[in-house]
Amino acid sequence: MRTLRFVFVVGGVLSGLGKGVVTASIGNLLKYCNYKVTAIKIDPYINVDAGTMRPTEHGEIFVTEDGGEIDQDLGTYERFLDKNLSKNNNITTGKVFLNVIQKERSLEYNGRNVQLIPDISDEVKRMILEASKNCEISLVEIGGTTGDIENLVFLHAIRELSEEYPSATVMVSYLPFLKNVGELKTKPTQHAVSRLREVGLFPDFLVIRSESGIDEVRKDKLARLCFLPKENIIGDPDVETIYEIPLIFEEQKFHEKILRKLNLPVRKPANDEWKEFVKKLGSGEKLKIGLVGKYVKYGNSEHKDVYISVVEAVKHASVVAGVNPEIVQVSSLNIEKNGVEILNELHGIIVPGGFGSSGIEGKIEAIRYARENNIPYLGLCLGMQLAVVEFARNVCKLRGANSTEFDPNTPNPVIDIIPEQKELIEKKMYGATMRLGAWTAVLKRNSIVHKIYGKEKISERHRHRYEVNPKYIEVLEKSGLVFSGISPDGILMEFIELPEHRFFVATQAHPEFKSRPTKPHPLFVAFLKACKELKNGRKKRRKTLIS
Ligand code: GLN
Repeated sequence: MRTLRFVFVVGGVLSGLGKGVVTASIGNLLKYCNYKVTAIKIDPYINVDAGTMRPTEHGEIFVTEDGGEIDQDLGTYERFLDKNLSKNNNITTGKVFLNVIQKERSLEYNGRNVQLIPDISDEVKRMILEASKNCEISLVEIGGTTGDIENLVFLHAIRELSEEYPSATVMVSYLPFLKNVGELKTKPTQHAVSRLREVGLFPDFLVIRSESGIDEVRKDKLARLCFLPKENIIGDPDVETIYEIPLIFEEQKFHEKILRKLNLPVRKPANDEWKEFVKKLGSGEKLKIGLVGKYVKYGNSEHKDVYISVVEAVKHASVVAGVNPEIVQVSSLNIEKNGVEILNELHGIIVPGGFGSSGIEGKIEAIRYARENNIPYLGLCLGMQLAVVEFARNVCKLRGANSTEFDPNTPNPVIDIIPEQKELIEKKMYGATMRLGAWTAVLKRNSIVHKIYGKEKISERHRHRYEVNPKYIEVLEKSGLVFSGISPDGILMEFIELPEHRFFVATQAHPEFKSRPTKPHPLFVAFLKACKELKNGRKKRRKTLIS
């Protein structure tokens, strides 16, 4: 094994520029150059992980195989690297301090005083090295922008690492276009670079975000004022799909320049499969898929990435299903106010995961609409729980059926808290205590999901506290609901389906987290194929199936 090398990615001027996509795209190219690559995200917040954060404010909470509840950038890394990452690939201020304080309490510092530098920065380095084990190139992205108080100690740590290991530092920055003068402005980037120099780091590359791309004049200017060769300024314009970014970088020979900086042999990326995927994306038959969720404003804006893994999983599957789906964001609160008419144009409905009672009845109405009108339905986690509630209420006629998460006094608690979870909540132990990460399910022979997966034992990632109440299984089954996947111990219901429906499948898991561009998830592919059938009027049968 060769020595480890680092690519550090930092941000300037603005956050939200797509540093995660830049990091993932560099990783994608180097992986296709046949290097062993990993990617680490540093989040300077004090939360130990993202599990306690509000997605409407922070974006999706991604779940890893080993049960990490993580910043959504880890999802982007997994999709671009086609690799499962560990929860250790996310380092937060909270995690670092927790480790150091625990060491201090157990006298590991031998009675000396424990300080930000070197003790916190050493712990950061230790955690980065631990997560980079068995890799040739480790990409480390530092959240936020240079000049933030929060990320200073992390920048200090990577400066030390950059002296100890061959490394390249990439700064992602932004050139605003000033309409009144008709010009791209470089000054904010010059300032950002000088802030980076203050902590002893010099960017080897500048990746420049802008709406239209960067021209030669601006490259010359930045090269001279930021002290780096002109060819190390890489353009990163707005694109239709983020999956194009590795190819835009390849055209600019970014991978070759990085490999040279790292003193590694230059290779040509063997990325035909990726190119094929990008070429086909968006070329199939048009469809409208409703994603019925919580779309909540935070201040004046609404976070775009609350369901990002679901949206991406639909895109990946669309290439294999030969469709070009438009994802329509349907607010379940809007259904509650204005009824289900807004669902009329849709060829398929997804209810994704969620927490809290807001908009729940709207989601249940959307599921009822899909079930009664033979419209393909895919339920993910909460989307399965609510499908059970809807079926219990409207088919089994179980009065007031609900999940105890939303109505603790329901006369028919068809969804109830998992007993161990109840104890944790009573002790206020919220962080990292849900049923998390990869769990196996056994699929019923010849069920729809068995045919879709093509095997009996499958594994998917989870993040939940509630489950189908075993006391209601018999009555639900009697009315035609099939529990087609169950945990190996026979206790937890993992999949449901309606055999007579065009496509009505839901799971307690989050299959969206395992979908990859060149390895789409079979459940999403099957769902989109059913939506295509509906659009083409095949097996056209819009009647109530079970009522
Ligand atoms: N709120 C539900 C539970 O905790 C569903 C969670 C989810 O959709 N991820 O069980």
